[in-house]
Amino acid sequence: MATVPGDHQDEQTSREQLLESGQSVSAVVRTTLGPNGHDKMLVGEKGKVLVTNDGARILERIEISDPVGRAVVRAAGSQRQAVGDGTTTTVVLTGALLSRAGSLLDEGVHPTTVIDGFHEATGVARDRLRETATAVDRSDRALLEDIAKTTVTGRWDEANTDRFAELTVSGLQAVGFDRSKLGVEAYPGGELGDSELVDGLLIDMETSPATVDDLGSGNRTVPEPRVAMVNSEITIEKPDAVASVTLERSEQAERLRSHEQSVREEAVATITGADVDVLFCQKSIDDTVRNSLFRAGVLAVERTRQDQFDAICRATGARAVQSIDQLIPEAVGHAGSVRRRTVGQTETLQVVDCPLETQRTLLLRGGTPHVAEETERIVEECSETVQLALRDGVVVPGGGASAMALSREVAHHASGVADRTHLVIEAFTDALEQIPGVLATNAGRDPIDTLTTLRSRHAAGDRTAGIAGTGEVVGMIDAGIVEPHAVFDRSLVIALEAASMILRIDEVVSTPSKETEQGDATRARGHGGPDSGGYPWAISH
Ligand code: ADP
Ligand code: MG
Repeated sequence: MATVPGDHQDEQTSREQLLESGQSVSAVVRTTLGPNGHDKMLVGEKGKVLVTNDGARILERIEISDPVGRAVVRAAGSQRQAVGDGTTTTVVLTGALLSRAGSLLDEGVHPTTVIDGFHEATGVARDRLRETATAVDRSDRALLEDIAKTTVTGRWDEANTDRFAELTVSGLQAVGFDRSKLGVEAYPGGELGDSELVDGLLIDMETSPATVDDLGSGNRTVPEPRVAMVNSEITIEKPDAVASVTLERSEQAERLRSHEQSVREEAVATITGADVDVLFCQKSIDDTVRNSLFRAGVLAVERTRQDQFDAICRATGARAVQSIDQLIPEAVGHAGSVRRRTVGQTETLQVVDCPLETQRTLLLRGGTPHVAEETERIVEECSETVQLALRDGVVVPGGGASAMALSREVAHHASGVADRTHLVIEAFTDALEQIPGVLATNAGRDPIDTLTTLRSRHAAGDRTAGIAGTGEVVGMIDAGIVEPHAVFDRSLVIALEAASMILRIDEVVSTPSKETEQGDATRARGHGGPDSGGYPWAISH
């Protein structure tokens, strides 16, 4: 694709190709946008199949060889990383900007003018988006649920996504919106509808089968337990002197046995001396020690997961010790109760009513491991989006309503701009209309008719009119289709950055593969923002 300097014709072709590559990524994912997004079947190298309508997941997995296409995928990646949602929107918007830019360049508008105009328009759009956003706080339970539902619409059947969204908000609310106090544990088996919000922490005992036996049958409960936390393995170390003992020599064997016995007794004495009822160990516990503890009335749980181990420490006030001999009474924590709970095939311990932190766990159920995993993902996304909305403090109508409103408002601004920038700003407003346009198309509607209806609703003063799941034009806030302001705001910023970056390139020159792989940022003389720095190809001007 290298060009002879000054060869205008070739440069044109080259730039056109660049814009087209940018748009082709958008063409792949646009049909997945919104509640009626179609599924794509992704077939991996080993024939592994994934069916999804999640634009972000598709982009993560498809292989794109051309560097401009990859730049768009990277833009989607930064969107996801920054706000966890809105990836498809960002890509569709980037594609729309590039397509409008292509027409402007054909009309002889200079790329710099296009970039500057897009910048100006984005600035106006962002200001308006912020000014017109609706405030949200922790007490707006219904609104928070709407935010959660909107973010996961189309991912599962409606009844279930709604239920997960509600459960997530209940869970977050119960822990004062501190995600670190809300555990999410998915167990295959059972019905999706059996998922529930449970009190306290749920500790998986799958890795600790022996302890399950200790618990006996039924729902044993340890009331008001004193809780000890041990960081390292609980084992009986053999003293050097008897390390290489030949066991035929009964005297030595006897010495070893009595040594072990005394070490064990000492450990058990230290634990019972500290009045411990339940002991969680992050590593394994020697069987004989565990049995002795069990006989002494201490429930010893081994291989507790690190995050849960830390959560128990925080909630019970226990101080983790490195070894049993460090277990002083002050290191012991408290809980309201520890009880056994069988979830499907899995044995768990529920640690409830801890004095220092109110913990809750979302216990997710689903038929297969795949379903359990997917539900966990949905809950994580709901939680992330709700927290984002609360951090940002404002939400905006979804379903293309905000894009339409901004399109009108930016167009209004354009009418006051005289020079060629006027054309560019108008092109920007066109690009924004692509969002409701694609939503209408995906809902099986004629986009031109639907956009006409939508425009007239906005012209009549309804800023919240957007495209419902049915494809009809309705008020989005009333319909409960709302998003964190930060999500669409980020889409505007990242689409602008990606489109500008691509518009600044006039040629792609391949470099030897070694450098290409290293993605040497110093060779990429692009001017992308901090999100787009360091593209793995060289750019000439
Ligand atoms: P993205 O990757 O951009 O988040 P999605 O496929 O999740 O793409 O679609 C998001 C778009 O769908 C947003 O414009 C959002 O407002 C809209 N949307 C979500 N739920 C609904 C719904 N129930 N009705 C109409 N539009 C919806
Ligand atoms: Mg989404």
